[in-house]
Amino acid sequence: MPSNGYIGRFAPSPSGPLHFGSIVTALGSYLQARQRKGKWLVRIEDIDTQRTVNGADKIILHQLENLGLFWDDEVVYQSQRIPLYESALERLNKSGLTFPCACTRKEIAESPYSCTCRNGIAKGKTGRSIRIKTDDRDISFNDKLQGSYSQSLHTEVGDFVIKRADGQFAYHLAVVVDDAEQSITDIVRGADLIDSTPRQIYLQKLLESATPHYTHLPVVIDKYGNKLSKASTAKADYIDNPAETLTKALVFLGQSPEKHLSNASVQEILQWAINNWTLKNISQIREITLD
Ligand SMILES: [Zn+2]
Repeated sequence: MPSNGYIGRFAPSPSGPLHFGSIVTALGSYLQARQRKGKWLVRIEDIDTQRTVNGADKIILHQLENLGLFWDDEVVYQSQRIPLYESALERLNKSGLTFPCACTRKEIAESPYSCTCRNGIAKGKTGRSIRIKTDDRDISFNDKLQGSYSQSLHTEVGDFVIKRADGQFAYHLAVVVDDAEQSITDIVRGADLIDSTPRQIYLQKLLESATPHYTHLPVVIDKYGNKLSKASTAKADYIDNPAETLTKALVFLGQSPEKHLSNASVQEILQWAINNWTLKNISQIREITLD
């Protein structure tokens, strides 16, 4: 399928079935891609083996199919792409910006925490994770929904981990490598990730990858102010009535599905949504409470 220059993606972590919040994100990224006649890829972010639940990937893909959200190309699994992350780490090592960090989990939990391992590890300590040096320059980007966003990595984030103490690659590195390797042009995802975007842009620059366009959609929170988690909604997999779920997600995203769609099929609802999708109607706030 031709991408028409636009390649988007939905990248769930298989820690459980999709909940309503992740369905909203999937739908938003799907509609943005389909309206632009672009490609829409699915990537299973199973790099964190401790959070990965066996079989959750299959359930997620089944949920997407039930909702009529069919993807292009083969589904990609991060767990099968370790050599790509290894080679990116090697390139970063060559830049001289990486360093081993000996800080323990207990030290990191202390507040305020400041890792000084960039100046060398204290005698008798050994490197556990690998961090990358940050600097004072602000990193800014223009989010298609949230507008201008700027962060000083050095003061607001500090030198951050790219390979964890348990030997696993950090999310920020894997996601940047994958987006570049899959030629992703547009990232539509939840606003809970907006503050990680400058870290990813920083890594893109160091790895000489293009920076995609970003759109951070509002995330769904429950009435107690908590983000929906896969664990908390494990039973509700929202595939009993996919047409109703799609309509509810469209309303959450500020779209106004027409009355005649109340008895329509998933295909009819999606076709209407592709034709009428507009970012203008989506709330710019980053969290919306689900009634
Ligand atoms: Zn450290």
